[in-house]
Amino acid sequence: MLKNNLGYPRVGAYRELKKACESYWSGKITREELFETGKTIKEQNWKTQAHEGIDLIPCNDFSFYDQVLDLSLTVGAIPSRYTPVLTENKQNKEIDLLFAMARGYQKDGLDITAMEMTKWFDTNYHYIVPEFSRSQRFNLFSNKILNEFTEAKQVLGKTPKPVIIGPVSYLLLGKEKEEGFNRIDLLKGLLPVYIELFNKLAHAGAEWIQLDEPFLALDLNENEKQAYTEAYTTLSKETKGLKFLIATYFDGVDENLPLAVSLPVCALHLDLRRAPQQLDAVLEIIPEKLTLSLGVIDGRNVWKNDYSASLTFIEKAIAKIGKHRVMIAPSCSLLHTPYDLDIETGMNPAIKNWMAFSKQKLKEVNDLYHIVNGDKESLSQNQKTILSRKTSALTHNPDVRQRLDAITDKDSRRKSEFKIRQKIQQANFKLPLFPTTTIGSFPQTDDIRQLRARLKKGELTEQQYEKEIEKATIEAIKWQEGIGLDVLVHGEFERNDMVEYFGELLEGFLFTKNGWVQSYGSRCVKPPVIYGDVSRPQDMTVRWSKFAQAQTNKLVKGMLTGPVTILQWSFVRDDQPRSQTTNQIALAIRDEVDALERAGIKVIQIDEPAIREGLPLRRKNWTDYLNWAVKAFKIASCGVKDETQVHTHMCYSEFNDIIKHIADMDADVITIETSRSQMELLEAFADFKYPNEIGPGVYDIHSPRVPTIEEMQNLLERASSFLPIRNLWVNPDCGLKTRKWPETQLALKNMVTAAQNARVKLVDKVLM
Ligand code: GLN
Ligand code: ZN
Repeated sequence: MLKNNLGYPRVGAYRELKKACESYWSGKITREELFETGKTIKEQNWKTQAHEGIDLIPCNDFSFYDQVLDLSLTVGAIPSRYTPVLTENKQNKEIDLLFAMARGYQKDGLDITAMEMTKWFDTNYHYIVPEFSRSQRFNLFSNKILNEFTEAKQVLGKTPKPVIIGPVSYLLLGKEKEEGFNRIDLLKGLLPVYIELFNKLAHAGAEWIQLDEPFLALDLNENEKQAYTEAYTTLSKETKGLKFLIATYFDGVDENLPLAVSLPVCALHLDLRRAPQQLDAVLEIIPEKLTLSLGVIDGRNVWKNDYSASLTFIEKAIAKIGKHRVMIAPSCSLLHTPYDLDIETGMNPAIKNWMAFSKQKLKEVNDLYHIVNGDKESLSQNQKTILSRKTSALTHNPDVRQRLDAITDKDSRRKSEFKIRQKIQQANFKLPLFPTTTIGSFPQTDDIRQLRARLKKGELTEQQYEKEIEKATIEAIKWQEGIGLDVLVHGEFERNDMVEYFGELLEGFLFTKNGWVQSYGSRCVKPPVIYGDVSRPQDMTVRWSKFAQAQTNKLVKGMLTGPVTILQWSFVRDDQPRSQTTNQIALAIRDEVDALERAGIKVIQIDEPAIREGLPLRRKNWTDYLNWAVKAFKIASCGVKDETQVHTHMCYSEFNDIIKHIADMDADVITIETSRSQMELLEAFADFKYPNEIGPGVYDIHSPRVPTIEEMQNLLERASSFLPIRNLWVNPDCGLKTRKWPETQLALKNMVTAAQNARVKLVDKVLM
């Protein structure tokens, strides 16, 4: 029974890699110093895993930027626009090419754009999307894997397990950059590179090789299934002396099961946290020689493993196929879990005792191994901990539970239907056609950030801090009035982050000091941890909304983060369904909405930018998720009077497949990101006959570029040909906190003028 690990976090316990990369990019350290930091992190990781008793220790899971990008370099899938990076500047090395592909290259008289980045399945990790051309050629370009293998072997004094994304998943992760071919057809050209590489690894002494094939746990078409058979038949035929382990994760192999077990490999890894049901099915038809790696420890969360539950899986597998064909492992790479709980200080010790980060999860693998072999002590210890969490007053708030049980359908329905609400609101607000607004935040300048830092350090009193935030808010209100915006915002100057701000004010959340997880490249996030029932002991935003509204006669929008987004961007408790946790948050937001309404706020926005990214990986699970997610939003938003206008905001533009559910949310107004493909989006809304009001973003806030009046006016005219003019709002496509003031002011002034022009030009259309 081998103890297996799929991958380890690589930013360093204190984000050493982030700091080193950023210093290298700004020319503060040399390439050698950067490599030195990488080397230290790798060595520590390998030694930690060896120390915790892991048998199959991964190598090549380290990366200076992203493992998919590393592979593109390995197989020579380097878009031709990057050729000058090495030819124009002879000082540049492979690492500089890598960073150029990841971040773009504006040096040596060159201006080369970066490659695209997208989310890694349903995680918050982002990878660099491989670009494929019709005549795509592959060749073994980088020796990173071989070098890292040798390095790990030296450090460990034994053979590590190279990890590489499998050929089929690699192709599927990429994108065709030209018409006229399907990337899966590139397999034939790609396989020889894998074969060459694997033979070199075998020669260097490799034994196990882990091929990550997460797409085996997703919906596959016939072509893709065939590609799997072809790839693995060829690889096993053309390489000698290697044991292949195929790793699936984030979902179950389900209907791809017959295919998965038919592949000529030695072992298959299953994610039994996300898809526990698949074990029985696999054991039913498992071929005689196949070993199973059981992913029983959650690689996507921060909680201690329930050993008895894991044991059930392990024992079942052993009974059927014998100990020698079973491996124990975390469910996926530990890349998505913070480093080390031991370095956390200041946490409630009771809660800390329920948690496990990456290092602790390695120990859990080891513990389970020993428990199977008769160690009673660590099992009973673990059972005590799990029980203490189950019964703790810290996780259970009877009032919250009672309220949750008492929710009825009425709580998730507005008092009147939209048409009636719209009439009332229009009569009360008297807004012009094409009302203008923004999404909430204004530039978070260094000055504003410093205020918070100084407050934290005790250099400012709470009062001084608030005074400064008040000043910024007043200025923002006056300025918005000045340029003639219709519905104003307070600017969110008091917020560090749209989830953290609320998490800090709600019960049931905790914050770590070093719980960093890589988001992309050198960027890391530190998600809040939801450990207990969520409640709202105090008002959260009323003070600022009221203050802002007091400065003006115009409407000021209250600004809240929605329940699904708060859930999605946190580590969530695993002792109850996600839907239940979301509903608890929804009730807390509902109370805040109510408090805002009572304080005289007439327009309230509840942001749900993360609702789409919460979609399950497999389509068959979408409806269930969308139903509870939409319901949670409605619980949060439907407590108000007809007179109160509810807005929501979302930042993605692929609505086509979920538009019905978006409409079900029944927000009076939705503002959305559309900058990339305005047409497609509007078509989706028009085809569906989206009933409520809508503000398709008229300019892209992700770039400092100031859009012209004409440009935005054109977009408005186009939107008017798709949707009823009375339902259209005018706004940028997201919050402005990452922008600077100069471009923000110019852009918004132009936007207001565009709306004014459109009013004049299109007014007849409305009267018709
Ligand atoms: N109200 C938030 C802001 O303006 C919304 C941010 C978002 O959509 N991610 O910053
Ligand atoms: Zn947004």
